[in-house]
Amino acid sequence: MKSKFFLTAFLSVSLIACAQETPKVKHKTKNKSSKSVSKPVKFANAIDPICEMKTEPDMKHTFEYKNKTYGFCSAYCKDEFKKNPEKYVQK
Ligand SMILES: [Zn+2]
Repeated sequence: MKSKFFLTAFLSVSLIACAQETPKVKHKTKNKSSKSVSKPVKFANAIDPICEMKTEPDMKHTFEYKNKTYGFCSAYCKDEFKKNPEKYVQK
């Protein structure tokens, strides 16, 4: 029965070796505090109300309306909003 023991031992060892090899998880670098990026703008709108595109914090086309900053993907969308903000602002 010696051979069976070795086989089991071999299998479990190879399983462990496999389990140790598979996770190729990249360790997330904790550099939140070291980042010196200017404070991200929090837009009042989650989506561009004109084209319904998701707004990103780094959008350049912004418009302030009633003390809230709205982000737009393009100057066109911003202009459309400017023309009739009430139409797009949802309460
Ligand atoms: Zn847009």
